[in-house]
Amino acid sequence: MADLRLEGIGMTSARTRDRLVQRLRDQGITNAAVLERIRNVPRHIFVDEALGSRAYEDTALPIGFGQTISQPYIVARMTEALLEAGPADNVLEVGTGCGYQTAVLAPLVQRVSTIERIEPLLTRARERLKELGIRNVRFRHGDGALGWKTQGPFDGILVAAAPLAVPETLLKQLKVGGRLIVPIGPEGDQQLVRFTRREQRIEREALASVAFVPLLGGTS
Ligand code: SAH
Repeated sequence: MADLRLEGIGMTSARTRDRLVQRLRDQGITNAAVLERIRNVPRHIFVDEALGSRAYEDTALPIGFGQTISQPYIVARMTEALLEAGPADNVLEVGTGCGYQTAVLAPLVQRVSTIERIEPLLTRARERLKELGIRNVRFRHGDGALGWKTQGPFDGILVAAAPLAVPETLLKQLKVGGRLIVPIGPEGDQQLVRFTRREQRIEREALASVAFVPLLGGTS
């Protein structure tokens, strides 16, 4: 039974997932390993059963507590943007949410440290990743804007919620050559940006217009 749940049937079947992968390819995602993860991660187990039939639509869906599971295209784009500049051994993720992005990312890197400010979401994410046999992830309940100094410095930092300005604290936790992928700006006017830390400066590239939930302070 457990295997059938992960494999999916009907609207969560392999064919439905293939269609999603094709759609992401058509939209310009080229990294084969990333596309393979999108195909293999059972997104339907990360959402409410009632929403399972919509799990392979390329759209954000509610996961409770006013939060959403990220849109597959965005997860793919952020992961690709992190990896195209080279391998990433040590990665920090801010905004674990339901853990979907974490599940796509974790097998593509050495280890992931992930922070979520809403404790019940973190607990559920931990359970799902365990169910998928993903073991290279450390979880923390806290304010991700502060980073996670003792796990750093990082080759990559992915932020799944939008601050109004780049969090300097996160830039400081990057290695030289490390990349911070973060949506920046107020609701309705956000840019996905990649910052790369060089010896003497920080490089900034705008990647796309996006719509994320806001990065909030504190925990809940
Ligand atoms: N990648 C996640 C997306 C979750 S939405 C997924 O695939 O499900 C963004 C998440 O960021 C929310 O769960 C929200 O609670 C969390 N968040 C917002 N501000 C945060 C902060 N300062 N620190 C940690 N998590 C934060």
